[in-house]
Amino acid sequence: MAHLRITIWNEFVHEQNNKLVQSIYPDGIHAAIAASLRALDDRLEVRTATLEEPDHGLSEKLLRDTDVLFWWGHCAHDKVADAIVDRIQSRVLQGMGLVVLHSGHFSKIFKRLMGTSCALKWREAGERERLWVCNPGHPIVRGVETCIDLENTEMYGEPFGIPEPEEQVFLSWFEGGEVFRSGCCWRRGNGKIFYFRPGHETYPIYHNPQIQRVLLNAAHWARPEGHWDDVTKAANVPADKAREPIQAKGGSVH
Ligand code: ZN
Repeated sequence: MAHLRITIWNEFVHEQNNKLVQSIYPDGIHAAIAASLRALDDRLEVRTATLEEPDHGLSEKLLRDTDVLFWWGHCAHDKVADAIVDRIQSRVLQGMGLVVLHSGHFSKIFKRLMGTSCALKWREAGERERLWVCNPGHPIVRGVETCIDLENTEMYGEPFGIPEPEEQVFLSWFEGGEVFRSGCCWRRGNGKIFYFRPGHETYPIYHNPQIQRVLLNAAHWARPEGHWDDVTKAANVPADKAREPIQAKGGSVH
């Protein structure tokens, strides 16, 4: 199988201005995720990109060479240029996979692709989360236990303003009583999208081996499949170019 080319995008803001976050992710969340994926599978080609870089690190070429894009953002969603959001959306429609993490639920690209509010309830109290696998046959949970226990997390609660997921992979329970659809799959055009909830920056979530396993599985699941037709552009097929001769039957002629 061809190499899987992964790009991990992070706004990379909290790690530079918050000492606690810095102590958990000294080189940034993107670097931590990249290192864990490389450690699990040395055939992966993993790159990172951040908000501050020109084009937020997401040039046309880099996106063309990306099979699966991971997205972590929180306090700087508005700083992501609309032109780059257009560029990512069009690559997803062509077939690039997109894995949206935690507070990325409010990113421009996720809201664009979902077309709904993507709003939710939240609370930061360091409470316990039990992340239940509700679809044990799904490739994203290969090698994952019945549930993943996370000692300290930020709570996300229903209702979550998303379109009905096409596949539900995880469902979370929180110490305070709320539940949340924490692992959801959709397709948009040729591209696959996975939203995965855990990942608040002040807890070492991405150092958890079970979470790392889910991220690796998600990258494999979201990789492009089949033929990459450019479904983003409409194309006229004139009658004289049709595969079979057509008897003109009226109507408008272009
Ligand atoms: Zn958070």
